[in-house]
Amino acid sequence: MTAETNGNILKTLIIGSGPAGLAAALYAARAHLDPLVLSGMDLGGQVSITHIVENYPGFPEGIGGPQLVENFQKQAERFGARLEFDTATEVDLSSRPFRVTTWNAEYLAETLILATGATPRHLEIPGEEAFVGRGVSYCATCDGHFFQDRDVIVVGGGDSALEEGLFLTRYANSVTIIHRRDELRAGAFLRKRAFSHPKVEFIWDTVLTEIRGEGVVESVGLRNVKTGAESDLKTDGVFIFIGHIPNTELFQDQLETDASGYVIVDRYMQTSVPGVFAAGEVADSHFRQVITSAGMGAAAAMQAIHFLEEHA
Ligand code: NAP
Repeated sequence: MTAETNGNILKTLIIGSGPAGLAAALYAARAHLDPLVLSGMDLGGQVSITHIVENYPGFPEGIGGPQLVENFQKQAERFGARLEFDTATEVDLSSRPFRVTTWNAEYLAETLILATGATPRHLEIPGEEAFVGRGVSYCATCDGHFFQDRDVIVVGGGDSALEEGLFLTRYANSVTIIHRRDELRAGAFLRKRAFSHPKVEFIWDTVLTEIRGEGVVESVGLRNVKTGAESDLKTDGVFIFIGHIPNTELFQDQLETDASGYVIVDRYMQTSVPGVFAAGEVADSHFRQVITSAGMGAAAAMQAIHFLEEHA
């Protein structure tokens, strides 16, 4: 029992307010679980910084990321979900009800839905932060459309870099993939497609040192890691795909994760701790779409409902 919950144990507490968390809230609220969502620092998660979402069904003209988040929130709240602008700082999964400490409160919950997302890894070079949304992007599916007939570069050598780079050829005039080694991490199928694509070029053994421009991206600084030679390359866009970091620090060592740190769930979104479900990018390194995350959130809530019925 805690002062904040006044002895009440929540049926479902959802950590994270991206598409997974808010879809889970909608489903849990409609089942009268009175879910509480802890929004975290970034209400809406990654989609809230996406200019326009054109691949979420139901919006034939596309919809702004912030508007989509607002719609998700309103729809969940309409059925009684509560959203707290608060961040979980500690989670104890060792016994049920689970204990979640936040900046402002402490909660006990019979079931938890972890929807804390993942953060695209950044290069951490000068200019990167300043040009986000003005030529720097971490999502080709979201932003590729804005680079029709432009020249773009892609940073990275894994499956994401090649897959997203190939996706960008639909729009861009040229796609130059810049990799820090002379060998790709990406699998054979994507390598073959990229090597044979007429719009795709590679620059090997090279890292970006700076992103420059007047208001929008105009060029990047490069350094060859073998020779040390520095050069400039003109470009209209910089797409960075050097991996994601799943936001699991809260429940590190309390749940099973895969080699890359993503929470392992079964097809029912159940984690290795009964009663704890995970949805969205914290448990998905592969699809990373609004629709797939929302689907996982809905599934997690439906399973939380079953779990509560079984453990009533
Ligand atoms: P990843 O496999 O971890 O590859 C990250 C790439 O970024 C690597 O080439 C790495 O270089 C490079 N990199 C990392 N930090 C860097 C830095 N600071 N500066 C420059 N380059 C840096 O990540 P991912 O491509 O996002 O893939 C993640 C997982 O999803 C993988 O398991 C992948 O197979 C899977 N995935 C699969 C598909 C598909 O099957 N269609 C599509 C997307 C993703 P090094 O190689 O030198 O380490």
